[in-house]
Amino acid sequence: MSFHALTPARRAIASPLFAVLVAITIFTVDTVTSLDIAVAVLYVAVVLLALDFTGYEGILTVAAGCMLLTVLSFVISHGADPEPGPILRGFVSLAAITITALLAARNQRAVTALREQASLLDLTHDTIFVRDRNDVITYWNRAAAELYGWRREETVGRRAAQLLDTVFPAPQAAIMDELEHTGRWEGELIHATRDRRLVTVASRWALQRDARGRPVSILETNNDVTAQRAVEDKLHRSRMELAHVSRIATLGELTASIAHEVNQPLAAVVANGEAGLRWLDRPVPDLNRTRTTVEAMIRNARRASDVIVRLRALARKAETVQAPLSVAELVEQTTLLVERELRVHEVQLSTTVPADLPPVLGDRVQLQQVLINLLINAVQALDSVAADRRVLSVGAERAVDEACGDVVVVLVDDSGPGIPDDVLPHLFDAFFTTKREGMGMGLSICRSIVEAHGGRISAENRSEGGASFRLALPIAPAGAT
Ligand code: ADP
Repeated sequence: MSFHALTPARRAIASPLFAVLVAITIFTVDTVTSLDIAVAVLYVAVVLLALDFTGYEGILTVAAGCMLLTVLSFVISHGADPEPGPILRGFVSLAAITITALLAARNQRAVTALREQASLLDLTHDTIFVRDRNDVITYWNRAAAELYGWRREETVGRRAAQLLDTVFPAPQAAIMDELEHTGRWEGELIHATRDRRLVTVASRWALQRDARGRPVSILETNNDVTAQRAVEDKLHRSRMELAHVSRIATLGELTASIAHEVNQPLAAVVANGEAGLRWLDRPVPDLNRTRTTVEAMIRNARRASDVIVRLRALARKAETVQAPLSVAELVEQTTLLVERELRVHEVQLSTTVPADLPPVLGDRVQLQQVLINLLINAVQALDSVAADRRVLSVGAERAVDEACGDVVVVLVDDSGPGIPDDVLPHLFDAFFTTKREGMGMGLSICRSIVEAHGGRISAENRSEGGASFRLALPIAPAGAT
């Protein structure tokens, strides 16, 4: 601890002036009074006081001074006729001062060496601090003072999470658990600085244990990544906006072309119908002409239906590339894509996908789209529950589905508010949404994709609360490539 970090009372005791006063008092008592005790032994207190304000050489100098005073006092009081008693007491005092001085100087040298090593940590740009098992800060480097705005002496002794208003990416108990088991933890934290600015830091923790293996302290190294995250956020927002715009644009184009292609035959159906009615309304209905108009109606209606079939076939043909896919890989890649959303919305993800599941046959990009949709919907639903209860789990197992046969079932379960009973029947309808800015196309597209894969998608509420989406995907036949 530095001299400036001491309380005023401790600072007064740790000053050279106080040591001088003590030395003068001992010298006076030793010289003036003629007690039969080795008063000069008390000089060891002066040597020990010197530990607080001087180094190795300083302590030896103070000790030499005390020994000089001992001898001086002896000469003044007993110089004329020295007796064996006082001589012995003098030697005892000198020996005590020497031994104390050597031990104190050695101790001071070790402390200085340690302090020098610790001061090396002040050279790094990384924020470093040490906290004990109760989260109480015991060390705080210069970079930490620069980033957070608190000086070392203001932080030592305070609880880190409280001081910095730490926002953890996972429940603290889970983090401590990992730290205790592996000795390390890495993740992103949000800290508040002294002037209430929020900073995002990439944090690395290392657990220090004592000789018996018991955890004693945690070394936390933090890197400020606030600026980097801001750029990433901006980029992400632009990307999302672009995706949104292009989705709407595609939808708009598609709608316009469908409307155009279908409108013509539909207009013809109406015109034929009206003509047919006119032929029937005649005093003598002309059944032959009526038949011709009805035939024309059927032809035009078929044309309209052909247009829709062609459009659907076109959409499917353009996008689907079927291949055997590992569900474990699919889930892993997809969760990586939404990792940022999970982090920002403080959602805990757990995946339990056995690696030995048989592959499913499908289009990687489309199935990823389905999973992303389900995960993002769940993340949005979880926004309405407390941060420490936002749990999302993705599981998979082999099963036999009554409609699709041998399948791999992927379950996406969340701990959100669940799906209201009146919403459940419309969940997969196109343009059905309960969100202010929703398009209501996500689940409808998911269903088209899954059904085009010969699979099934369904949703239900979990008995313990939250929604559960079930995706059944047919297993790839042996030998499929
Ligand atoms: P959008 O997300 O644009 O609303 P979707 O088709 O993806 O469109 O979702 C339709 C609706 O289904 C949502 O508006 C929401 O009400 C409901 N929903 C979807 N997933 C969940 C979920 N995990 N929990 C609760 N409701 C959900």
